[in-house]
Amino acid sequence: MQELEGKVALITGAGSGIGQATALCFAQQGARVAVLDLSDDNVKQTVEQITQKGGQALGIVADVSQVSDMQQAIEQIQRQWDRLDVVFANAGINGVWAPIDEIEPEEWDQTININLRGTFLTVKYALPLLKVAGGAILITSSVNGTRTFSNTGATAYSCSKAAQVAFAKMTALELAKYRIRVNVICPGAIDTHIDQSTQQRNLEREQEPVVFPEGKTPLTDGAPGNAEQVAQLALFLASDRASHITGTPIWIDGAESLIK
Ligand code: NAD
Repeated sequence: MQELEGKVALITGAGSGIGQATALCFAQQGARVAVLDLSDDNVKQTVEQITQKGGQALGIVADVSQVSDMQQAIEQIQRQWDRLDVVFANAGINGVWAPIDEIEPEEWDQTININLRGTFLTVKYALPLLKVAGGAILITSSVNGTRTFSNTGATAYSCSKAAQVAFAKMTALELAKYRIRVNVICPGAIDTHIDQSTQQRNLEREQEPVVFPEGKTPLTDGAPGNAEQVAQLALFLASDRASHITGTPIWIDGAESLIK
């Protein structure tokens, strides 16, 4: 028996990294997956990988920070499958990392808009479908959402990630009566494309590339985790095995956050 058989899942940021690994994992476990990402090419790639293995996927190119994009995304899911059981608000950026007196207001807004407003819009517009039979909401925050970072410049990012944790706790309370669970995944360093995008943005500003905290993941002798490990946690939280877990931030960081 596949763990998500009969279920429909929406995953944002599913064109790369954690979102892509989770989309493949959920599809393998029987879910029909709405693969949402900003990048058309990445959406196609994930959808192809799912369908090649006999799974069902719906590609949606959308910006999670835009109201009309997210309204249309949910309409597409309703037309295609007319149900929704799992929502994974995972799309996110590191954004521009700069000292607080140097970061531009538009740069600050971009990080908050994609990471926090994007989470809000994803959940808000998914709710009418989710409320029908109950379900699970997962949010990707970061270890930064629950502690400070050892290098400076990541204030906008950390604020967006901490607010996602608060969002998960508040909505877990609010949505419990609909049998909707809300949990928040807090990864440490995970080997994905996210670092690249940050460095590129900073280079555009002619700054030094961001230096990420020394990779000191105790469990793996310094090496980062991988997206499949996070996908396994997402699968557990989405499944009935986690039926009494809600409002909970869960670290997945090989003990990284215990030593900084
Ligand atoms: P990634 O860059 O590989 O994937 C992120 C995906 O989100 C990309 O495909 C990108 O196109 C998409 N995206 C970005 N902005 C979007 C928007 N406005 N609308 C729709 N899609 C958008 O990175 P990842 O590491 O897989 O990141 C996934 C989540 O994990 C993010 O929320 C990130 O903050 C979080 N996270 C990552 C790490 C890490 O070390 N990789 C650590 C902690 C938290």
